[in-house]
Amino acid sequence: MSTIDDLPPLRQVIADHALSARKSLGQNFLLDLNLTAKIARQAGDLTACDVLEIGPGPGGLTRGLLSEGARHVLAIEKDIRCLPALKQIAAAFPGRLDVINADALELDPLAHLAPPIRVVANLPYNVGTELLIRWLTPKDWPPFWQSLTLMFQREVAERIVAKPGSKAYGRLALLAQWRSEAQIVMHLPPGAFTPPPKVSSAVVHLTALPEPRFPANPRILEQVVAKAFNQRRKMLRAALKGLAPDIEDRLTQAGIKPTDRAETVGLEQFCALARLMES
Ligand code: SAM
Repeated sequence: MSTIDDLPPLRQVIADHALSARKSLGQNFLLDLNLTAKIARQAGDLTACDVLEIGPGPGGLTRGLLSEGARHVLAIEKDIRCLPALKQIAAAFPGRLDVINADALELDPLAHLAPPIRVVANLPYNVGTELLIRWLTPKDWPPFWQSLTLMFQREVAERIVAKPGSKAYGRLALLAQWRSEAQIVMHLPPGAFTPPPKVSSAVVHLTALPEPRFPANPRILEQVVAKAFNQRRKMLRAALKGLAPDIEDRLTQAGIKPTDRAETVGLEQFCALARLMES
């Protein structure tokens, strides 16, 4: 039986399995196992958790998660070429790693996971943002996940944690911060990846709050925020004109000046406005 010590270095894994990086799959691999263990540690205590890893590739982060003690890892990988390398890892951690060859945007992994569940991923940025929005807007709250630890392009990471008044502040910040605690926990230069991407990256850690910070109907809040930031340069009385004939009054009641722009309005005020839009 193979053990963790028998696993070859990741550069060799890539050579052995001819895993030349494919741009179409956003493949920028992490080959430094000290770094992947450090990322795994940002996800918190994994020993009592199932971890959902999206896009394991040759398995650098997967090894980090397992060696940091994850109870069980379910890894979803679209590229069939990565499966033999992942099989080797599964053999070194008996019963602790399952791999599904699928597109993470198509598969519902919940049947294969037991709570508590943490999500960890180094994904292509477009897929990562789409999954993040899905994970932040489930039908019911609290969601299936306890935390999300995700690699993003630095600029996207900054949009997730942005505060009012900054250029990065918008729909993503509000969605993320309404029902979770979001923090950038690591910065990575392009050279941390093989091949290096054009831009810097950052790891964002989001912890689900048991309750939203302020009450609001999720569907209405999302609608108000989307409309407000769709025309972020406009005053809110103009940007939200279509929502209600008396929008100026409702803005005022929510503590927002009708002449304010979306980027200066905080979460609490957006939630107050969403509640007023229900009446
Ligand atoms: N986690 C590995 C690492 O850190 O070295 C690989 C990261 S690489 C940025 C992204 C990985 O996601 C690739 O292995 C790619 O094949 C996989 N991937 C891309 N799109 C995917 C999708 N829609 N569903 C599942 N995996 C996907």
